[in-house]
Amino acid sequence: MNKTTFKKPFTQQEGMSSEAIARAVEILEGGRLHRYNTLEGEVSEVALLESEYAEYQGAKYCVACTSGGQAMQIALRSVGLKPGDKILANAYTLAPVPGAMHAAGAMPVFVEIDDNWHTDIDDLRAKAKSSGAKFMMLSHMRGHITDMDAVMDLCEEFGITLIEDCAHTMGAEWKGKKSGNFGTVGCFSNQTYKHMNSGEGGFLTTDDEEVAARAIIHTGSYMLYGRHGNAPPEEVFQKIRLDTPNLSARLDNLRASLLRDQLKGLNRNIQRWNERYQALEVGLRRSPHLFLPERKQHEAYVGSSIQFQPMSISSEDIPELVSRCGQRGVEIKWFGAEEPVAFTSRYDSWQYLQDIPDLPKTKEILSRTCDMRVPLTFDVADCVVISEIICEEVAEMTAR
Ligand SMILES: *Cc1c(COP(=O)(O)O)cnc(C)c1O
Repeated sequence: MNKTTFKKPFTQQEGMSSEAIARAVEILEGGRLHRYNTLEGEVSEVALLESEYAEYQGAKYCVACTSGGQAMQIALRSVGLKPGDKILANAYTLAPVPGAMHAAGAMPVFVEIDDNWHTDIDDLRAKAKSSGAKFMMLSHMRGHITDMDAVMDLCEEFGITLIEDCAHTMGAEWKGKKSGNFGTVGCFSNQTYKHMNSGEGGFLTTDDEEVAARAIIHTGSYMLYGRHGNAPPEEVFQKIRLDTPNLSARLDNLRASLLRDQLKGLNRNIQRWNERYQALEVGLRRSPHLFLPERKQHEAYVGSSIQFQPMSISSEDIPELVSRCGQRGVEIKWFGAEEPVAFTSRYDSWQYLQDIPDLPKTKEILSRTCDMRVPLTFDVADCVVISEIICEEVAEMTAR
């Protein structure tokens, strides 16, 4: 049999628009790339971006950072987490999340996930009770948003301050409310593989004045916070300015210009992602051997990646499936590997953390989880071809 091979790379983003490039060139020619290097009365490109993103998000403040990981670390410090404080966190996430917790001195208490890749609410309740943690880092990993009513009830009951990692839910909603607006702080990434791409970059958003003021100083405003743009009033800074360390994590005007342009097209791109996601979903569901959860919760998701579980082959055989699909140009990631590979690592590989628990349910689910990125350089027809290749390979492996 002559097998089709898919030819496009899974890591290719769309190029910058000519408008973004023109603005970037203007900024380069101007030479003032640092956000606080402003002329009298001038608002920097980064400050404009922050105001525009705050408006998009429906949050009072947005603080731009060098990365999503820095946004998370700064968020943790800004809400008052101190070294040694415990923090609840779902175990299924990406390495920058434990890294940010570690950098802030937090002691993660990992929580199980369920078959839909949601944070397991029962385990969360049990661990909130047993640990006494007063903070939670909820990572909406791969865009799967857990029951936020239950999370918020729990946070209220136990007096927990919530921080949301929205690296995969920028623009997503739960019951009509934007992901990131549930917690005290929402953290976002603008790294190349996320919903907006400036190579590196991140945001944190909050309605809390003191958290915003601390975040601004943490990112490295020095005592120039008066030039920041959309910032809390001076008296808020007066209270915190001398006990807030500068972590030098500012965004620059060049990258901000790229993001300002992309923000205008973000909602349109979300639709484009979902068209591709839905084509993949329909295609993969044709196979009786694959499990995809119904996304029947209250989420308006962004389908920038897709996850599925092969049901007819064992976890031990998933690497072979990954390799077979890879030979046909379809790049699947597997979250079950003992050793971390590329971007993918399992919670028990973060050995710099203390007291890593055994989470049998999470391990078992991840051992069956296949994951695929969906760049916007693929069209809907590409997604049909990709799903056919996966279905064929699973079917062949099942039949032998
Ligand atoms: C990408 C990512 C981040 C932050 O990434 P940076 O590379 O630091 O911008 C955080 N959480 C998750 C789940 C991510 O995928």
